[in-house]
Amino acid sequence: MNTDRGICDECGSEFLLSSSKMKGLCPECAHILYGYENCGHVFKNGRCEKCLWDGSKSHFTKNIQGE
Ligand SMILES: [Zn+2]
Ligand SMILES: [Zn+2]
Repeated sequence: MNTDRGICDECGSEFLLSSSKMKGLCPECAHILYGYENCGHVFKNGRCEKCLWDGSKSHFTKNIQGE
């Protein structure tokens, strides 16, 4: 299993590279910004077990989602 981790350029969260279609974005941001398939997040202890996203959102993606 590939366990390489990256830092999302958009929200700043750590994420599992193999879980995202994009190298510089977590699955959440890649989904919001580019329409790639999102991770079906499973949160445990404040981060997703599957992609390691910690729930961070940038102002930009928050605006897109209308939060
Ligand atoms: Zn992100
Ligand atoms: Zn996830």
